This record gives sequence, structure tokens and C-alpha cells, in this order.
Amino acid sequence: EITSINSPWFEDFPALKTEVYQKLLRYLDTAATAQIPSAVIDRMTRFYQNDYASVHRGVHYLSAKATQEMEQVRTQVSDFIGAESVNNIIFTKGTTEAINLVAHSYLRSQLSPRDEIIVTEMEHHANIVPWQLLSELCEVTIKVWRLNEKNVLDLDDLKLLITNRTRLIAVTHISNVLGTVNAIKAIINYAHKRNVPVLVDGAQAVMHQQVNVADLDCDFYVFSAHKLYGPTGTGVLYAKRRHLERMVPWEGGGAMIDQVTLPMGTTYGEAPWRFEAGTPNIAGILGLGAAIEYIESVGLAEIANYESQLMAYLVDSLTQVNGIEIYGNDDNRVGVVAFNMKGLHSFDVGAFLDRYGVAIRTGHHCAMPLIKKLGQSSVCRASIGMYTQSSDIDALVQGLNRINQLLR
Ligand code: PMP
Repeated sequence: EITSINSPWFEDFPALKTEVYQKLLRYLDTAATAQIPSAVIDRMTRFYQNDYASVHRGVHYLSAKATQEMEQVRTQVSDFIGAESVNNIIFTKGTTEAINLVAHSYLRSQLSPRDEIIVTEMEHHANIVPWQLLSELCEVTIKVWRLNEKNVLDLDDLKLLITNRTRLIAVTHISNVLGTVNAIKAIINYAHKRNVPVLVDGAQAVMHQQVNVADLDCDFYVFSAHKLYGPTGTGVLYAKRRHLERMVPWEGGGAMIDQVTLPMGTTYGEAPWRFEAGTPNIAGILGLGAAIEYIESVGLAEIANYESQLMAYLVDSLTQVNGIEIYGNDDNRVGVVAFNMKGLHSFDVGAFLDRYGVAIRTGHHCAMPLIKKLGQSSVCRASIGMYTQSSDIDALVQGLNRINQLLR
């Protein structure tokens, strides 16, 4: 008999005390968005309540303070992911915007018709559709790095796909459906031998393991604050210095300029600010800073260790449910487990679990090509974070067992 696994950090997350349908919330949808610790909520409240002002342009006290504190977060982010310098960090509104920024600011000006972009079959739509839009604009070809029979990306397949027309490889660090950790470093290493830059989608990775962009040697790394125990509406693009130098402004507006003249002749500010037009999500960025501070105070290694125990328990518990089919690889899965109850639609399973207070995600998970590859039209996904406990998993399994009793 396994004893219960309790998170030492559970109490830090006030929303986990919420009741739904008079039942304690069992939040197993952290991969969609993570609950937020009090430290982050307090940080944002403090800004709104006492320190609220805009950044960049003000001479007054609060504006200078907001600017300085926001720029401090850039340093925090830079240190958190091991960037060469704070100037490699661009604030965006999320992973999605960061990828679109790379598409338009970096890649677009370099493309000629019949050039190629490689995307993998396990990407989130955010790392597919921007490239498809670009392909329509610039008449370039999207090539698909498909999964092998084990649903794994095989480097040998990439070797066959890369040509001298390949301009970028877009690949996720960790799959948001299967939890598979891709061999990013080997992929980047090989791509660089062929002179191809790599964009890594880290949306599902930064909260589960220490990421070091210098060690990975990736060209671009993107993630969202809201999966890292921070707020929505804030994200990060890390780009290598030499790419930043080639990037052209994408969005124009205030804060990204040097001198504006009419009718033409406007000059732009330096990177990273030249890629941050308009008033930023100041509270969100400060919240991201608080989230990083919180995570660092706990330690990512601590979190990873706790989560791996919990994942083992989750997979083990699910395996014992009758009629369940689990996707992905048991020896390589972080954060999420995708499954279906044979003969039942994932939506019915999810709606049933919801009545028991168990929140999972169902559907295509913004990864339609991957779901298709699995031979499904939709799947259930349970995902965990640093605050998840074995009791949440027990509630999920009880719910699935009840489904078996009632719906079969
Ligand atoms: N990529 C992956 C792997 C994701 O899981 C997500 C979020 N579901 C995204 C990209 C998009 O992130 P956002 O919606 O925060 O821009």
C-alpha cells in the first residue's frame, strides 16, 4: 500500500481551496494553466494597489519605479533560463505571440519561394499555424517531421528532411499531450551542423525542469508565464544575439522607436525594446518575476523530484482502471498523461469527472495532428504541478471507476 503523497507547497495556492459542486476542487489541468501562488497574486495586487504607473516614459517616481522593477524581471528571466544577457529577453504576451514574432520579425525577411520550414507532428497549434501563415505569404514549404511507430521523434528522420533550403526547425521541448521530453539538445546539435536554426517551444518545459538556453544552444526559446505559476498575458522570447541583430520590427508603436519623423524616416530603438511596441503587461511581467522568485525559492530540482513521484503514482493508478488506454511512453513522460476510456468519448468522461470536482482537459489539446496520429479524435488529459497531491489522483481514479460502473 502506497502512503499518500502530499505537496509541501499546497498551502501556497489559495485557489486549491475552492469547491465546485460542493466538492473540493481536484485540479488536474495544470498544463492548460497553472494555479497561482499567493506570492504572485500579492505582487500583482501590490502593484495595482500602491505602485501603479506606466513604464518607460515617465519622469515621476512611480513610473521610474515600475520601469526599474519591470526591467529587473528581465534580469530574473535571463538568469532563470541561463541566457547570455538580459538583452536576449523579449517580453511578449505568451508563447503564441513569441512564435509569431519569430515568424515575422526573424524568418519572414529571409525567405525565398520554395524554402522550407520543418515542424514536428507533435506541435501545439501555436507552433504550426504561424509557420503555415508564413508559408502562404512567402510561398515556402512546410515539411513535417513525423513521429515513428513509438510516437517518438527519431533524429534519423530529421536527417532525411533537412535540405539546403531548410530555414528553421520548430520543435516542442515537452509535448503538451504525451508529456514526451524531446531530445532537444541532440536535435539542435544536428541542425546546427547543417546550419539550420531551431526554435524550441518551452511552454510545457520551464516549470518542470531547469532549462539552460546557453547549454542547449537553441536559437529561440519561448514560454508563457501562466504555465509557470504566473499570470496570463505574459510570455518570453529568448533569441540569440546574432538573430536579434537580423530581426526587423514586427509591431510598430510607442516604446520601440528611437526618432519618429514624417512622412518617413523613423528609426528604432535597440533590442529587446524594439520588439516590444506599446504599453506592456506591467502587472503580468511583475507577476512573472514573482513566480520565478517563488519557484527559485522552492527549487526546480525539488519540484521535479516531487513531480516524478507523483507521475509514477498517476500512471500506476490509471493503469489499474478497466478499459483505459494510455498514450505516450512510460519511461519518458513529464507533467501530463493522455488517455481514453475505450468506447467512451473524452468529453463525456471529462463532463462526468467534473461533477465530482475533478478538472481534466478533453479534446484535441490544440494538437490536432498528434491526436490524429494517435488514431483518435479527442483524448482526456490529466496534468500535474507542484501542488498536486495523490488525493487528487485518487479522486480521478475513483471517478473513472464510477464511470465504468455507471456508463458500461
Ligand atoms: N505550446 C505548447 C506546448 C503549449 O502547451 C501551449 C499552451 N497550451 C502553447 C504553446 C501556447 O501557449 P499560450 O496559449 O500561452 O500562448
